[in-house]
Amino acid sequence: MTKIYICVVSSQFMRYNEGVQEKPKMRQIYIQQPMHTGLETLKKSLQETGNAPLDMRGKHNNRPRKLTEDVKNKAMEHIRSHTCGNCDEFKAKLKGLEVDLKSVSNSEEKVVIEKKIKDLETENKVHKIKAETFYRKKRESRIHCQSSLKREAIAMDYQKNLSMPNITTNDTYYKRQLTFNTLNIHVLDSSDSFFYCYDETIAKKGAEEVCSFLHHYIFTKLNANVRELVIFCDSCGGQNKNYCMFRFINYVVHTAERLDVIKMVYPIRGHSYLECDKNMALINQKAPCETTDDWRKVVSESRLKPTPFRVIDVDRPLVRSWTKFLAPKYKKTCPFLSRPIREIRVEITHPRLIFYRDSYIGHWTSSAMLDAKRRVNTSSGEDFPNSGEFTLPDQAYKDILPISKAKFLDIQSLSKYCGLTAKQFFSNFKYNN
Ligand SMILES: [Zn+2]
Repeated sequence: MTKIYICVVSSQFMRYNEGVQEKPKMRQIYIQQPMHTGLETLKKSLQETGNAPLDMRGKHNNRPRKLTEDVKNKAMEHIRSHTCGNCDEFKAKLKGLEVDLKSVSNSEEKVVIEKKIKDLETENKVHKIKAETFYRKKRESRIHCQSSLKREAIAMDYQKNLSMPNITTNDTYYKRQLTFNTLNIHVLDSSDSFFYCYDETIAKKGAEEVCSFLHHYIFTKLNANVRELVIFCDSCGGQNKNYCMFRFINYVVHTAERLDVIKMVYPIRGHSYLECDKNMALINQKAPCETTDDWRKVVSESRLKPTPFRVIDVDRPLVRSWTKFLAPKYKKTCPFLSRPIREIRVEITHPRLIFYRDSYIGHWTSSAMLDAKRRVNTSSGEDFPNSGEFTLPDQAYKDILPISKAKFLDIQSLSKYCGLTAKQFFSNFKYNN
């Protein structure tokens, strides 16, 4: 127990060693357990320095060392292992032209090369401005959401694959390991972060999975007051930017009637830093992990503030076959080219249409997703017996997904370095012949 005295006259805290008699005009405080964080700080400071902590109130308003958003984005881009192809090409071309410029003596040729360099620089500048616009939009969206309960913005991305068993034994370098997948949904204004975690025997990494997790997030985690959702995610064709996803967002707005507006924003390739990358950097990828439960524990303990990461244990029933379910309700093929698209929007006021544009500020174009005769929301149809009710697609994978035989054998041989739980876990896998 620490004895602390407070001087009634000067309100100063003093510390006395055990056995010192209590002074007049001093009030004794006993601290047995922390009652308040302020008291904790005081106790710590007294133990370390013998003085009360320095009062910092009013001294950090300017925050001169605070990084600007642009600097943060640029720094975080380095976390991504791949660099932008467009920017790399620009650098290589520029280097070549500069060498040419030094070697020529003819002034006419010099002018031609200088013109080429100037054009190249302008082109790259435009490309970088586009990339900046994505980050600006994300920032504005976050601030916009803070002002209303009806709006929410999220960033969504698959994290880098982790492997199991993640052990230090040399053998792991030469052997195939089991993949542990995580899809991160990060709420931009509150910084809450959800991790959908599973191994490769539960599900794959495709459009079905992304739609299923997004469905789970929207219907169980998203605040019930929210009517507008903005999703920032990278332009991966197999996961986020495909016809299944477009049909899915139409379904959420017009059939399930859960939201009024859904917008998806895709970044310029190579400049696609999302908050999810920052979250990944917090996870210790070298942590010793033998089973999925070990990885889940590592993820959930990776962040404390503002809230710990929330891990969602993905089981087979969570993953539904959305492609098969949505196909008969919509046009067979996507009515537009998805590759150049930067933004997609679905609104409650236009049940048949999907809006899209190939820039962040240009005009919106629309296409019909449903045939003229078919309406997506038929309250008398067999799919939707009552208004407001909706059916879920079938489970995508009924049984454990098989891995390759070579991988199975590698994992079995690695399991000799693992504990009993891991051994049992690995022995349950199936493999393709
Ligand atoms: Zn670039």
